[in-house]
This record gives sequence, structure tokens and C-alpha cells, in this order.
Amino acid sequence: MLSSLRGFKDVLSDEALKWQWVETVTHEVFSAFGFSPIQVPLLEDVRLFHASVGATSDIVEKQMYAFDDLDGKRIGLRPEATASVMRAYIEHNLHTGPVPTKLYYSGPMFRHERPQAGRLRQFHQMGAEVIGVLKPHHDVELLSLLAYLFERLTIRGIVLQINSIGCPVCRPLYRNELLAFLQGYLSKLCENCRRRSRENPLRVLDCKEASCRGIASASPSPLDHLCAECAHHFRAVQEGLSRLNIPFLIQPRLVRGLDYYTKTVFEATSEHLGAQSAVAAGGRYDGLAEALGGAPTPALGFAIGMERLMALLDPTQVPERPLQLFLIPLGSAASKMLSPILYALRKRGMRCEMGDEEASLKSQMKRGDRLSAQYVLIVGNAEIEAGVAQIRNMQNKVQQGCALTDLTNNLLAVLNA
Ligand SMILES: [Zn+2]
Ligand SMILES: [Zn+2]
Repeated sequence: MLSSLRGFKDVLSDEALKWQWVETVTHEVFSAFGFSPIQVPLLEDVRLFHASVGATSDIVEKQMYAFDDLDGKRIGLRPEATASVMRAYIEHNLHTGPVPTKLYYSGPMFRHERPQAGRLRQFHQMGAEVIGVLKPHHDVELLSLLAYLFERLTIRGIVLQINSIGCPVCRPLYRNELLAFLQGYLSKLCENCRRRSRENPLRVLDCKEASCRGIASASPSPLDHLCAECAHHFRAVQEGLSRLNIPFLIQPRLVRGLDYYTKTVFEATSEHLGAQSAVAAGGRYDGLAEALGGAPTPALGFAIGMERLMALLDPTQVPERPLQLFLIPLGSAASKMLSPILYALRKRGMRCEMGDEEASLKSQMKRGDRLSAQYVLIVGNAEIEAGVAQIRNMQNKVQQGCALTDLTNNLLAVLNA
């Protein structure tokens, strides 16, 4: 018997309906904030991810699904989408359009995670990118979008953590100080961190190992090394958030381990998610466009982990859309009469279903029950002869007569009452 691959999951209808609702709400919110959708491919030339995510990063080295296609070209399943969006921006000269370019996307990402971590290898992200602007009020706008999204989805207990990791002017000073600090703890760092601390000490602060986290919590913060411009930018972001009454917390050791990240970095976390507490993460990546061979282009963005978001969703907040009417035909004459009515009601947006004319009244009633139909209409030969059928409200069991002439409109009147 075949089953789905490890780390790949079916999302069955009950759960998929919640996903759909989240997507509907998010489309509305992104649109209100002036973002346009973009769809980028799942497969890219692996060099895109080498240049963006980093050729020596864990994601590219250990987790990316990379393989040669039938033409011998090295391709990779995207582990994230920011690189693809930036590639599309450069490839299609989107800088010639209105500034900033505000884009959002949603879709599956792929990482060959260790199975024991219980993480999915196909997971989903929804993200936003603001491309072509430097000023701090764009950081505030993006963060306010994120905050409002959680509000609209009634997800409570989210903490917005922000930090600044400086720029190519001030970060080298911080990097050197961090490097010197870590030298004193080399033997206590995990193997990965010992290896990578030399090339990229900031990534030690990202490490999830308990020993490394302990050391990280005592390490110097980039906040103490910001140049005047970065300090001004970070202050303006905080002031902007306060003006919008958006609560935030400064997390002085929050970093992104990639060189093209600059200034503002942030995470939205929830205590309900355990150790992997971030449900969304993002920041400024003013250096990414250049890293991909484009002109220098400041930009910022975030990605939301959909599976984590869904885990935080309060299911009672998701509106249900029950079956409004179940039509029960007893015999073929009734079925012939009701099938155009069913079609007409569906075209009017009513959620309706019809039973099998050959099945007994009892078994059809049972099916209507299983579908949680709000109303049931029973039509047999006797009803056709009398020109009237009974429509039953399944909640309070109250029945009322419903004339068969102009039945569609009669039913619409009952359903819309
Ligand atoms: Zn700076
Ligand atoms: Zn470590």
C-alpha cells in the first residue's frame, strides 16, 4: 500500500477549509495595504539559492532538494521564495513601475529536514516584499501589515520582536567584537557553530542548541555598534510603531545570518509554539539585489510559516458554511422535477445537495443529517399531485408548506429568511 512521503502531508477538507479562510482574509489584508500578488516557479536554477540563501548555509548544503533535470541542468526546489521574487523583479525590470514594488506570494517550500524534528519537508509560506525603498516608514508599514494580519485572523499572544543588525558600515565592527567574544567560548559551542563562527559569527546567535543559546545570551549586541544612520533608522521604526499603537519588544540578539540583511530584522513569536516559536520572520535585505547580480536596490520583507499559523488559529473563529438545503426526491418524476431546481439554486450561490431518487426516505434523511443540512425538502408523487411539498428546518424540526410552482424562488425565500 502506498502512502505519502515522509514529511509530505495531505491537508484534508476540514483543515483545508480553514486554510482557505486564512487565504481569503490575507488576500483582503494584502490588498488593503497596496500589495499585488506574484506567482514564482517552484523550481529554479540552484545558483539562485547559492547566491541568496548562501552556498554554505545549512539550507543549501543539507536541506535543499537539488538535482539534475533531464537536460543535465542543476535545479532546486525552492526552500524559500524571497530569492525568486527578487530574481523576477530584476528579470522583468519591475523597477520601472511604481516605487515601491509591493508584492506578496503564497505557496509550498521544500526542505529536506531531519525526520525526527517532526518538521514537514513540504511546508507553506506566505510572504510580502517591499522593493526599492530605504526609509524607515516602509519598515513600519510592513510591520503594521503583519500585526494587522494576526489581528484579523484573531490570533492572540503574538509578540513582535525587533532588532537592528546594522549595515556594511557598522556591522564589521560588531562582527569583530562578536568574533573576539566567541573565541573565549569555542570549546562550549556546538560543532556547527565552531565551524561557522569564523566565517559568520552572527549565525551562532541563530543556533538552537542550548549551549550556544546560553553563550549567545551573554554576547555583545549589534545595537551597541550601530552607526548614526542605522541608529536613526531604528529609532524611527520604533517611533512609527508606537504612533500606530503596535506593541513590540526589542530583542537585542535577534539576527539574520546572511550578509545581505541590513538594519531592521524582526520575528513574530508565540509562546504556544514551543522552542520554534517564530510564526513569521523578516527584515531588510538591502544587499540582496546586488548579490543576485542586479543594481543596488533596498528592500524588505517577511515570510509567515503557514503550518505554524494554522496551529495558532482558533477554529471557532473560522466561519462555517453549512449545507443549506438537502433535496429528497422519492422516485424519478420528483428527481426530474428537482434537478433543474438544484442547478438554479446553486447558480444563486446556495449550498445544496440532492439525494438519490431510488433510495428510501429513511436513508436519504440519514444522508441529509450526515451532511448537517439546515433544511430538507421532500418531494414524492403525492407532493407533485398536490402541488405543494414540506420543507423542514432540521434544527427546530418545524415544517412549512412550499408551493411547487415557482419552487426556486419559494426556496430562496425560505433560505434567505
Ligand atoms: Zn550602519
Ligand atoms: Zn550552535
